[in-house]
Amino acid sequence: MPNRKLIYFFIGTLLTFCLIFFGVTSNAQNKKLQVAFLDVGQGDAILISRGDKQILIDGGPSGTKLLEKLGEYVPFWDRKIDVLIATHPDADHIAGLVDVLKNYSVDELIESGAQSESQIFAALKKMAEDKKVEKQIARRGMKIKLDDDVQLEIFNPTNPIIDDLKKDDTNSASVVAKLTYGENSFLFTGDLPLEAENQLIAAELPLKSQILKVSHHGSKSATSLNFLEFVHSNDAIVSVGKGNRYGHPTAEILDRLKKQKIKILRTDESGDVIYNCDVVGDKCELATAK
Ligand SMILES: [Zn+2]
Repeated sequence: MPNRKLIYFFIGTLLTFCLIFFGVTSNAQNKKLQVAFLDVGQGDAILISRGDKQILIDGGPSGTKLLEKLGEYVPFWDRKIDVLIATHPDADHIAGLVDVLKNYSVDELIESGAQSESQIFAALKKMAEDKKVEKQIARRGMKIKLDDDVQLEIFNPTNPIIDDLKKDDTNSASVVAKLTYGENSFLFTGDLPLEAENQLIAAELPLKSQILKVSHHGSKSATSLNFLEFVHSNDAIVSVGKGNRYGHPTAEILDRLKKQKIKILRTDESGDVIYNCDVVGDKCELATAK
């Protein structure tokens, strides 16, 4: 019955197209903003999405792990990440980004400008060149728009790039950015150390943000009481691997956050920490937390 087979084939193809079309259009209409602090082990990876637009801040220590996570949050038909931000060249922040460049089309890669002699830094540089990705050096005052009403403002590094930055002090160059959406704001700090936090305070930047990504996985080299008072956040996210060898996060930082009555969310305990914001930006709510 070749005719019947042909009819089934056409019906099957038509249904597949309908499903894909429905998936694409419903996602494009889903204009809600989502900020996902991905559980990638000992490292950082934060995915900011709205409809089919995405910004990925850092890629964690493993490409396999990161691609698995992106598969959960980026629709299968969307093979583009609009902007990648590598906060600084340490492997726990950039290793996963190499595989993102390999597997997704990326419009732009934003870096701190700090250099490293590591193999992974060289691999990221080569992959970006091979894929002809536009590169930019982050500098204070730069604004990145995800949409008309969703904006990331860069607070660190300052411009021009810190020339006297010690070779091994890549943390000080960490890209620090504030995401603003309606009434809501998130502050992403990379692995920024105390001294650089103080410079942000001295520069009188609008640090106040409801949600703070705790710097350097909760190391005591960052997150001073003074900085916490300026940021004045309700929630703090610690992106950290279970039983990591660095002892992150430290009891000292956890105590400091608790004393400020800031809700602590850890990726090693809660898995991915997800905030879903409503369409107008009135409210961003925590979607998952154990
Ligand atoms: Zn780190």
